[in-house]
Amino acid sequence: MVKAALAGAQARVRAGSVTPDDVVDAALAALPTGMTDVINATGVVLHTNLGRAPLAPEAVDAVVRAASGYVDVELDLTTGRRARRGRTVEDALGAAVPRAEAAIVVNNGAAALVLAALAATRGGPLAISRGELVEIGDGFRLTSILGAAGVALHEVGATNRTTLADYREAVAAGVTAVLKVHPSNFTVAGFTSSVGVQQLAGLGVPVVVDLGSGLLAADPSLPDEPDATTTLAYGASVVTFSGDKLLGGPQAGIALGSESLVESMRRHPLARAFRADKMTLAALGATLAAATTPVARMLNAKDLEPRAGTLAAGIPGAEAVATTSPVGGGSGPGVEMPSWAVALPEQLAAPLRTGTPAVVGRVHHGRLLLDLRTVPPERDAELAAAVRAAQEH
Ligand SMILES: *Cc1c(COP(=O)(O)O)cnc(C)c1O
Repeated sequence: MVKAALAGAQARVRAGSVTPDDVVDAALAALPTGMTDVINATGVVLHTNLGRAPLAPEAVDAVVRAASGYVDVELDLTTGRRARRGRTVEDALGAAVPRAEAAIVVNNGAAALVLAALAATRGGPLAISRGELVEIGDGFRLTSILGAAGVALHEVGATNRTTLADYREAVAAGVTAVLKVHPSNFTVAGFTSSVGVQQLAGLGVPVVVDLGSGLLAADPSLPDEPDATTTLAYGASVVTFSGDKLLGGPQAGIALGSESLVESMRRHPLARAFRADKMTLAALGATLAAATTPVARMLNAKDLEPRAGTLAAGIPGAEAVATTSPVGGGSGPGVEMPSWAVALPEQLAAPLRTGTPAVVGRVHHGRLLLDLRTVPPERDAELAAAVRAAQEH
């Protein structure tokens, strides 16, 4: 497979359509990972089916170093004794969110939520609004996941309206914690009401908040997106979120909050089943230390119109068009970001998807749109070459 990719790429170098660097990339893309390198031209920055956040180069280096040999993941080199897995990245999270007394990193957001709910409820029922019974994708509902982990759910309110009185009744009826879930992939409009974390914090039981998307602090460019710092300041006992959404890191679940709750999460037997591996911890630590991430760059990309123009000018039959795309991955529900795409005949979708590298776009009103927001600018030439190859197909 590597040989075939190399031969193909070398032929394209001779034809002048790619550079020798592209040959190296093609060879790497053909390494037997069991997965195919994809140019994401959907415009959806956090596309779960495409692996969500692409890693920052710093995180990639960290993974290579962590994966390539022995590391002190659970050993204190000064004392020679066992040390807590994930301690350095958890300290970095604590430094980034000083409101959090403690932090824990696990495998994914769902695992962080399950552990937080188990620790907060201590065997009792958990109150959740009927307006927040979220399905996160592929048929998985948060309530089924919590139920499977043995958390008894106590639903309160109606689909469109839940009041503080509903939660008060639930506390009087014996719930031992309250869960608030950020409606990350849908919006409810019209005659609605929900109860904010500040009010829930006065109920006298721990409040777990599933933020979903993982902003550490408020971001003015995503004004409707909740963040860990503000939510903890409002009185949440613990917040949970994913590492590979807006944080722009590897797949991981992060919980920040009270020392005692996070400590109970650490000691829970399921923590061992949910633990993050050394590569995840390395990539997350490097992401937190990096100046920026590909996710942040894509969300703030400003040069999309000229890039679309240049690309379209070099591809027969292509047209640069203005478009909009969602953030995806349970972030900014209902938010459409203005973007620019290269429009092509719809028939090119299949050959592009099955080419090398694979190019995945978006079919809209009978045309294939290659949205440049999610295409790294350094891959524009490769994208153009892939389109020309698909046209010759
Ligand atoms: C994405 C999301 C999850 C699940 O996180 P994973 O990291 O995919 O396990 C849970 N809750 C909300 C609100 C989400 O948006």
